[in-house]
Amino acid sequence: MAYSIMLDAGHGGQDPGAVYKGRQEKNDNLRLALAVGEILKNNGIDVSYTRTTDIYQTPFEKAQLANQAGVDYFISFHRNSSPKDNQYNGAEVLIYDKSGIKYQMAENILGALGEVGFREIGVKERPGLVVLRRTRMPALLIETGFINSDDDNKLFNEKFNEIAQGIADAILGTLDKETVEEPLYYRVQTGVFRKRENADRMLYELLEKGYPSFLLHEDGLYKVQTGAYQQINNAVNMEQRLRDDGYSTIIVTK
Ligand SMILES: [Zn+2]
Repeated sequence: MAYSIMLDAGHGGQDPGAVYKGRQEKNDNLRLALAVGEILKNNGIDVSYTRTTDIYQTPFEKAQLANQAGVDYFISFHRNSSPKDNQYNGAEVLIYDKSGIKYQMAENILGALGEVGFREIGVKERPGLVVLRRTRMPALLIETGFINSDDDNKLFNEKFNEIAQGIADAILGTLDKETVEEPLYYRVQTGVFRKRENADRMLYELLEKGYPSFLLHEDGLYKVQTGAYQQINNAVNMEQRLRDDGYSTIIVTK
């Protein structure tokens, strides 16, 4: 099943976000959100956006859009700003608290931005932020450098494609690991019985022939299964052997 992710370009419309030498944060945010979204889409992610044009939304409205869509993840794009120009530089990722997959994803995204050349400020807890607090799914807010840092703007401009690719790869890599945590096991089922003794008869027959078979008691039924295999090819091979031996088979994952 494909993951769904809503990308949020921070600010918009009458709210430009931070501004430096005529550069408006809302535009950088939108450009990066769209670029990351394009890569995620090409990798099978179901991508949606809070905005794809220059419109105004309150942070609460942005969170509501994600909740209504029921997406799996919400990722907001921003650029930081310091009180004085060129006072700070670096990237940080903000999350509600340091737990769960969003924390892992935040660390991976920060690492990717560090590889591109941003100073890694860190992953920080910001439970007060509306888009982190009011979203019902794991939510992250990425600050891709300071908009009033000439060094960070140079990176943002010159390494834009690498930044988008790095963030997308970090997201995809985190989701891949998530899937691997619960591997799917394929088993070959040769019989389902209401009576235990009928199931036992088939089981002993299979065991005698040397098959790695076992009995599963589930929903009041006795299921005779052989396996289990992480690779479906191995299950298919076993299924062929059992069929050649005269059994009727199906491949199951439970
Ligand atoms: Zn912002």
